[in-house]
Amino acid sequence: MTSFDYDLLVIGAGSGGVRAARIAAGYGAKVAIVEYRELGGTCVNLGCIPKKIFSYAANFRYEFEGAKGFGWASEVPAFAWPTLRENKNAEIARLNGIYERLLSGAGVEIVQGRAQLIGPHAVEVDGKSFSAERILIAVGGRPNRPDQPGFDLAITSDQAFHLETLPKRAVVVGGGYIAVEFAGIFAALGVDTTLVHRGARVLRGFDEDIRTHLTESLEHQGVKLHLNRTVDRIERNGHTLRADTSTGESVEGELILLAVGRVPNTDTLGVDRAGVELDDRGAIKVDEYFRTTCDSVYALGDVINRVTLTPVAIHEAMAFVRTQFADTSQVVDYDVIPSAVFSHPPIGTVGLSELQAVDKYDKIDVYESAFRPLKHTISGLEHRSYMKLIVHRSTDRVVGMHMIGDDAPEIMQGFAAAIKAGVTKAVLDSTIGIHPTAAEEFVTMRIPRASDS
Ligand code: NDP
Repeated sequence: MTSFDYDLLVIGAGSGGVRAARIAAGYGAKVAIVEYRELGGTCVNLGCIPKKIFSYAANFRYEFEGAKGFGWASEVPAFAWPTLRENKNAEIARLNGIYERLLSGAGVEIVQGRAQLIGPHAVEVDGKSFSAERILIAVGGRPNRPDQPGFDLAITSDQAFHLETLPKRAVVVGGGYIAVEFAGIFAALGVDTTLVHRGARVLRGFDEDIRTHLTESLEHQGVKLHLNRTVDRIERNGHTLRADTSTGESVEGELILLAVGRVPNTDTLGVDRAGVELDDRGAIKVDEYFRTTCDSVYALGDVINRVTLTPVAIHEAMAFVRTQFADTSQVVDYDVIPSAVFSHPPIGTVGLSELQAVDKYDKIDVYESAFRPLKHTISGLEHRSYMKLIVHRSTDRVVGMHMIGDDAPEIMQGFAAAIKAGVTKAVLDSTIGIHPTAAEEFVTMRIPRASDS
């Protein structure tokens, strides 16, 4: 019998890797995890958590602005970027420590360094070799930086979290989650912000009405939208960067943030030495049990590029560990994944967009509500809410729910559980609302929008 150093060796201590390592160790496996940066991966260090902290900071701007209507006399106080950045750094260092204690407490050995596959059961970390019965790749992804003239002058979200100073003017390139979230944060923190996107609207794939309302919100926030154009080149002129776009127009700022997607971290992993195949976008190919084209090597999380969200990576890790170490074969159900965009106001969404529902079902009913929340009739802020419910007519099942408005992500989490459980419109109708809230709109929508579907 071959003996290995470990039962499981995990490469990458992000959301998926840490969860897999800890839980496998809990099942009695001998586990090591290799990481060359801080523990916690993108979400903790360069993604969800610092972004949410910045997003809270941005929200305060509107709380201060709106407070006057409620009798608070003061003006918007001065904002100090270094305070926010340092407090964010301290919180992340605290979380790094928690991750370390969680792993050590579970008996996982932490190996510091950059790992490369050198065979189906072997990994090299900075010149030292380790063997394992199973290897799990959970190395995530990194921001995409297109190879175009001057694009090296721009930053990506990785650097945006550590800026020395906030620029006076910023240009954000892209129209996905990261572009929208950072444009909103910058604008709220007082940066003159321009967003350049190749599409006619931001957030492709989201419900069209949500996209429309988000576009209006960005405009109300003062974000200048330059749509239907690409950035072709970037040039430096002293302290200013200039982005030349495909329409011939240029936009300028002291900072240009590229937010044009993310790519899997597979180029220096040595995948070919273990026979691990990649798809044409560089993501690791896996089956439903996260097995790669090499029998002893598995992969999950952003590096497989299925659904690049932290909670999905965690589900994948749990399914992988239960299948491999607990004798309970488990696959991940990718249906009905809720998600949020921390714009201002934020978006919460679950299930099908209206266009997807029209495509999939014979007849649907659409219920919607657009209103100015009570808080903002008093605050005077132009923060509006929009909510939409999509129902499959013949089964009465709710197949999509979307909201842009205060607290949308918090509201949507509970409704996501209901949709997962197969909630019908009749059940929503029989649910008593909590008054006065915005969420109660979802259980009080009575008349479908006129629709030809
Ligand atoms: P997204 O895939 O969300 O968006 C990428 C954007 O860049 C799209 O608007 C896309 O346009 C545009 N784009 C892509 N390539 C080019 C190019 N060559 N030139 C110009 N524009 C381009 O990626 P993000 O980087 O924003 O985020 C990555 C992922 O991280 C998200 O998809 C999400 O899964 C996750 N994430 C989740 C968050 C959350 O849960 N709140 C927050 C941040 C990230 P087009 O639409 O036309 O393709």
